[in-house]
Amino acid sequence: METKLAIPVRETIIVGSGPAGLTAAIYAARAHLAPLVIEGVEAGGQLMLTTDVENYPGFPKGIQGPQLMAEMRSQAERFGSEFSTRDVTRVDFSSRPFGVWTEDEEFRARTVIVSTGASARRIGLDSEARLLGRGVSYCATCDGFFYRDQEILVVGGGDSALEEAAFLTRFASKVTVLHRRDALRASKILQDRAFANPKISFIWDSVVEEILGEDRVGGVRLRNVRTGEISAISVTGVFVAIGHTPNTVLFEGQLELDPAGYIATQAPRAFTSVPGVFACGDVVDHIYRQAITAAGTGCAAALDAERFLQAEGALH
Ligand code: NAP
Repeated sequence: METKLAIPVRETIIVGSGPAGLTAAIYAARAHLAPLVIEGVEAGGQLMLTTDVENYPGFPKGIQGPQLMAEMRSQAERFGSEFSTRDVTRVDFSSRPFGVWTEDEEFRARTVIVSTGASARRIGLDSEARLLGRGVSYCATCDGFFYRDQEILVVGGGDSALEEAAFLTRFASKVTVLHRRDALRASKILQDRAFANPKISFIWDSVVEEILGEDRVGGVRLRNVRTGEISAISVTGVFVAIGHTPNTVLFEGQLELDPAGYIATQAPRAFTSVPGVFACGDVVDHIYRQAITAAGTGCAAALDAERFLQAEGALH
């Protein structure tokens, strides 16, 4: 049962505007759901932090990440999607129509599609936050260019860390990968390539204690987790590649989350634990995390929302 309200009730609100949210918007708009996309202050998601996207089908020569997002946004707009550039501050999925708030607006909708993505995980050091953009980076493709002939540390032992390390060898004179264990999590092929790359070396069983430098990164203090030994190395760049955290704080207590904090869905369907709320993209996916898989699940979420509304007789 929907409560009667003075605020107009929309068919669907999409929270987040990466490839998942914008694909959902294209499909929802074409289904005449007149979606409102609350795109957030960091509109466009993680692709806004990348340069060349070479694996998105349809662009054999590659496309810049921000350009790809601009094209998706204009495609969504062309079919009648509306946009709000605010961040969502609160949601209420406990009764219908659902409530969605930004700092100064309140919206109601019969369905909500959540596509809030994931964010790069931080080590959690004060020095990391202080030196962000001054030698500390979470995106090799964005910032690698600035480290020509310099020595760089990459933190992490997964696919991202090794991929970033390999990419950074195009610019850097030396790349050291720092991993907290003595075995990498990364896939075998990336491991083999990294071990064979003369510019890449490894420090095992160690974590960053402190990133050193006043205005710019000058080095890193390390701690060996087995021996407790403290050491320091001199680098001008620290690239942190220790995974991602799903952006689900808004939905705690409202939607069922998996143990890692991702929104639980009934894959391949985009249904969440609340009927009428759908989720797609990196906020549900900790396995593939690709623009194209996010776009695919965004499409599925919009189709699920449309069918849900049709089944309820809300669409005519
Ligand atoms: P990931 O697989 O979760 O690896 C994160 C790495 O960071 C792990 O080695 C982990 O150590 C380490 N780590 C986590 N928290 C840490 C902390 N607080 N301090 C120090 N180290 C920490 O993340 P990912 O590499 O970003 O990859 C995510 C997913 O995307 C994976 O499924 C991956 O296969 C996929 N991916 C694929 C490609 C590709 O195929 N080309 C490229 C990038 C990503 P432990 O090993 O000890 O846990």
